[in-house]
This record gives sequence, C-alpha cells and structure tokens, in this order.
Amino acid sequence: MFKNILPLLCLIVVSCKGVSQEKEITSKKDKEFDVTKTEAEWRAELSDAEFYVLRKEATENAFTSELLENKEKGTYVCAGCGTELFRSETKFRSGTGWPSFYEEIKGNVAYDVDYKIGYKRTEEHCATCGGHLGHVFEDGPKPTGLRHCINGVALDFVPDHAN
Ligand code: FE
Repeated sequence: MFKNILPLLCLIVVSCKGVSQEKEITSKKDKEFDVTKTEAEWRAELSDAEFYVLRKEATENAFTSELLENKEKGTYVCAGCGTELFRSETKFRSGTGWPSFYEEIKGNVAYDVDYKIGYKRTEEHCATCGGHLGHVFEDGPKPTGLRHCINGVALDFVPDHAN
C-alpha cells in the first residue's frame, strides 16, 4: 500500500505550487500581511487562548466557545486585528462544537493548506494579520455548500445595534 502512496505524495509535493496558484491558495509563509507584529507583541496583547489559536494554529476544545450558540445579528471580527470576517446571517448550527459559517466576508479571509492530521485540509486565516481561524470543508449547507469551521476564540462579536 505504501509503495503506491509514496510516488503519489512526491507528485503532490512537486505539483503543489502550480495547483495552489490556480486556486489562489498561497502559503502563509510567503505572504506579507498588512498587520504584522512580532511574536512578543502578539503574546502581550492576546490572551493565552487567542495567542495559541491565532498565532500557533492550535484548535480550541469543541463546545467551549461562548459564541457557539450566539444568535444575535452582527459581525464576527478577527480577535487579533478587528477585520470583519463573517456575518451572523451565514452562521449555522453544524453540530461540531465550533462556530460554523457557510460564507466568509469576501476578501477578508485567506486560505492555505495543511496536512497536520495526516490528510489535506484547507486552512483559513485572517487576510489582514494572518491569524489562524480554522478550516473550510465542502459539506456545508446551501447556498455555498461550504462549512467554515472556526475557533470561536479567534473571533470577537460586534452586534449590529452597537454600530
Ligand atoms: Fe486579523
């Protein structure tokens, strides 16, 4: 079995760059973000949980986010830099234990690929500061069919009536 997988993996690694560009997925490492801070600066201004999720790509425990059951109208913004990321109208109950959205606010979320748990997943992060948000899967509801599975700790909620 592994004999078959190895050439395939090599092929994926070799062809990754071309494929990524077609899908407009650029490795986070190669990007320059408008908001850029040192690790020490991020550590100083974020909570421990925010720091490990946003800057170290940790995943919060399922069913722990205060925003999981939030049904208020408003905008979910990056907890690192305040960029608007998701609207409440696109939030849905996925049953996974993480806040889930079927659509992002276009242009404000960017994508990468990770293989951290052994298979390919589309990672998503704030397009302004590069803060890790979660992953996007293709098993979401209409109209997009996408499920943005987001760490609640990476988000702050701004209710509409506050504006
Ligand atoms: Fe951000």
